[in-house]
Amino acid sequence: MTEFFAPVSRRRFLITAGASAVSSVLLKGCLGNPPEPTATSPSPAGTPAANVPADQAPEVTTAKLGFIPIVESAPMIIAKEKGFFAQYGMPDVDISKQANWGAARDNVEIGSAGGGIDGGQWQMPMPYLISEGLITKNNAKIPMYVLAMLNSQGNGIAIANNQAGKGLGLDSSKAKDYIVGLKQANTPFRAAYTFPRANQDLWIRYWLAAGGINPDTDVSLLTVPAAQTVANMKTGAMEAFSTGDPWPARIANDKIGFMAALTAEIWPYHPEEYLAMRADWVDKHPKATKALLKGLMAAQQWCADPANTTELATILAGAKYFNVPVAVIEPSLTGTYTMGDGKPDIKDPEKGVRYWSSPRGSLSYPYKSLDLWFITESVRWGFLPASYLDDNAKALIDKVNREDLWREAAKEAGVPDADIPSSPSRGVEKFFDGKEFNPDDPKAYLASLAIKKA
Ligand code: CA
Repeated sequence: MTEFFAPVSRRRFLITAGASAVSSVLLKGCLGNPPEPTATSPSPAGTPAANVPADQAPEVTTAKLGFIPIVESAPMIIAKEKGFFAQYGMPDVDISKQANWGAARDNVEIGSAGGGIDGGQWQMPMPYLISEGLITKNNAKIPMYVLAMLNSQGNGIAIANNQAGKGLGLDSSKAKDYIVGLKQANTPFRAAYTFPRANQDLWIRYWLAAGGINPDTDVSLLTVPAAQTVANMKTGAMEAFSTGDPWPARIANDKIGFMAALTAEIWPYHPEEYLAMRADWVDKHPKATKALLKGLMAAQQWCADPANTTELATILAGAKYFNVPVAVIEPSLTGTYTMGDGKPDIKDPEKGVRYWSSPRGSLSYPYKSLDLWFITESVRWGFLPASYLDDNAKALIDKVNREDLWREAAKEAGVPDADIPSSPSRGVEKFFDGKEFNPDDPKAYLASLAIKKA
């Protein structure tokens, strides 16, 4: 193991004095019968919850968190709706719907003081790109902290119906001749993602390149906001898109397309979206940050309990959140997918969106090794200079990734030791095409890839 992934940084890790009796009771409630929500009887605004130990009382009772209406946002919405933020002294958290990822970026750039947001839900590596000033106005560097993973899986690559029968499945090599032919005929295959240089762009690039299709030269890539993907596929504006549930399910339900692959098939238990906030907000409100994390962890455990699936789908379906029928959301929560185009349907909860734990480790803890994959993949496609894989990556990840705060919050919440990773590295990652990412040697992973810009 390299110095980078030495077990648990002690530099910022303050040992906390064990969980309070109150939070232990709360945790048992989360794992078994969920506690009665306090959302129905919240503390008066500005008053910390009575059961929060004095030394953990948050500095403020509110924070403004942005969300995008896809299943990734469920833990934040549930933490608000089921009173988990309130139970940790944050009854006034504002969960604010963002029109698209660009709007979320603009809103975090101005912060809540300017009418924007303090943080919220992000595709990776957006918090890094914002911190580095690579996607902000005038390249302003807005330091951000990555605090927790929100979810794994629950994403996929959808294909328009008029592309049926062309071999567009998990193994894209079967469609390579077809796609290259489209390019040669000057009618390139158009594939959309919801924001460039982030998860969905990276998933569609990985999937194409694994089959020998160069995403930079053999197809046309474009940005379409998640909420417009169904309409754009209906009107023939693109042949494929990569986005979060419930949109792929809508494509299948509305019979306008089929699924080529689920991200769960490309990379089981892959990192998906994250909670990240402005560093200045976190530095000013460290206890409130941990209260948010404790509420989020309780919500993730609640979301992961199959007994809560119908209630979860019902809350997400509401007008102020996703504003879609419950029946559109529930399948992805149970791993139920109509794949189409001759592929067998999938009905496996382990292939659906996951919120808390997995055979590959915690799905809430923000592993530094997974951040390094996003940086490596960004170098692969020329989004970041290759120098990021030298000394820069370690320094940057140590600056942006606050797994130390996650650990402190988990201890305070009484999360069992078994659910708290012992190392910031998740170890070697394996992809569907046989490639491996060893976080101790990211350059070997890059060297193993046939198609890349770097
Ligand atoms: Ca996503």
